[in-house]
Amino acid sequence: MSADPLVAVLAEVVGPAHVLTDPDLTASYESDWTGRWAGRARCVVRPADTAQVTGVVRACATHAAPVVPQGGNTGLVGGSVPRGGEVLLSLARLDRVEPVDTLAGQVTAGAGVTLAALQRHAAQAGLSYGVDLAARDRATVGGMVATNAGGTHVVAYGTTRAQVVGLEAVLADGSVVSRLEGLPKDNVGYDLPGLLVGSEGTLAVVTRARLRLVPQLPHRVAALLAVPGLAAAVALVARLRSRVGGLQAVEYVERAGIELAVDQLGVADAFSSPHAAHLLVEVADHGDPTPLLADALDGADEVAEVAVADDGPGRTRLWRVREAQTEAIALAGVARKYDVTLPLSRLAAFRGDLDGVLAREAPGARAIVFGHLAEGNLHVNVLDADHLDDRLDAVVLGLVASHAGSISAEHGVGRHKAAYVHLGRDAADRAAMAAIKRALDPEGRLNPGVLFPAAR
Ligand SMILES: Cc1cc2nc3c(=O)[nH]c(=O)nc-3n(C[C@H](O)[C@H](O)[C@H](O)COP(=O)(O)OP(=O)(O)OC[C@H]3O[C@@H](n4cnc5c(N)ncnc54)[C@H](O)[C@@H]3O)c2cc1C
Repeated sequence: MSADPLVAVLAEVVGPAHVLTDPDLTASYESDWTGRWAGRARCVVRPADTAQVTGVVRACATHAAPVVPQGGNTGLVGGSVPRGGEVLLSLARLDRVEPVDTLAGQVTAGAGVTLAALQRHAAQAGLSYGVDLAARDRATVGGMVATNAGGTHVVAYGTTRAQVVGLEAVLADGSVVSRLEGLPKDNVGYDLPGLLVGSEGTLAVVTRARLRLVPQLPHRVAALLAVPGLAAAVALVARLRSRVGGLQAVEYVERAGIELAVDQLGVADAFSSPHAAHLLVEVADHGDPTPLLADALDGADEVAEVAVADDGPGRTRLWRVREAQTEAIALAGVARKYDVTLPLSRLAAFRGDLDGVLAREAPGARAIVFGHLAEGNLHVNVLDADHLDDRLDAVVLGLVASHAGSISAEHGVGRHKAAYVHLGRDAADRAAMAAIKRALDPEGRLNPGVLFPAAR
């Protein structure tokens, strides 16, 4: 039995079996997917429903205990694990998904429902969920809402923000805000759910979300295009955007990442000869979109080779190298990760400058660059640079800002980029964000150190 009085109170709220203090049981909650971020929690608490989340948050308020909300712990910016001493609030048991409302084309899902479970549930009702990402088996609704997750289908359906029609959330004082009616038009005052999307657990704990669903598109084709580099890939984006209606995904992978997936995970390269980069395009529609895609690519001299698949297993094979990137990088070492967006017109120039910066600042390091090209979103992963200090972060993120890009595309700011928010938001903007934080969490107990640098 723990001597910590808060642990005893939390055990009354959720039951003793769901307050963990044994290091063997808490360990998996205390370090993140990348291996970069870790810290000991005061305890891990696992409520089962909104009422228990309220009880936990109230108890933490009474004991002035900081709280780190956690969903699937697949976040990549150090936002989902404690620094040391916080209560780790796992939302994983809030995994109830309600029946699909086919009339509205919406569903209400608990914060702990995984993306894969949500996708299966929507499919059983003849609909789809508009967000997809490789961490689908673990990433949760609450985590995706909190990070405004993007993923591979943003070109078709937008980010998580565009799917959220309502939220239920527990505020720092334990009060519950509930807007789950799902009315497409409902302008009674401020859009609180909109504010909470992307707030990274710093303003409230998300307990349920009302989500928009999209039609299932039965005909789907994937084409893997071998291209000589990023500039050629960007030129193809313009061609595809203007000629192909049902674009679902436009994904980019470079040679170094292809080889890493082959080496680390035994994934087969789709082409027998090596190419500088691959562009993976997926198109879906109610009729066969293959002729439209073929027409759009007719005369595209940038494309050296093409592999096409219109059946499930074939598409999965073409996606394998792209989907394997994050996992292959994690197997190769602890990478410095930069998830950034550039204007498409600046992307190739940024990529060239990045090589120069890395050669100067991190000689011998390996850059694995891939991403969601239609949005100009690159994931820059620098391996063999773990021995360097944080100067590399400042230089790479500064380079992004100098190209009018965003230092935080879809993974969030987390702890990793909290000191660099000024590169993306001016003083007035930062002051407004700080005022909102003070208003909703005056004691700064929700996810301290995330988005706002930790007080020293
Ligand atoms: C292999 C792999 C591929 C990925 N691909 C993509 C991708 O394509 N696009 C993309 O956007 N991301 C991607 N990610 C990152 C990650 O999956 C997303 O950020 C996801 O949204 C995190 O969900 P989660 O449930 O794991 O959240 P966690 O990692 O548990 O938490 C993430 C953040 O949200 C907060 N949070 C979690 N749950 C709640 C809640 N209920 N209420 C309030 N705050 C909460 C946490 O405090 C933390 O700040 C990938 C990650 C991996 C490992």
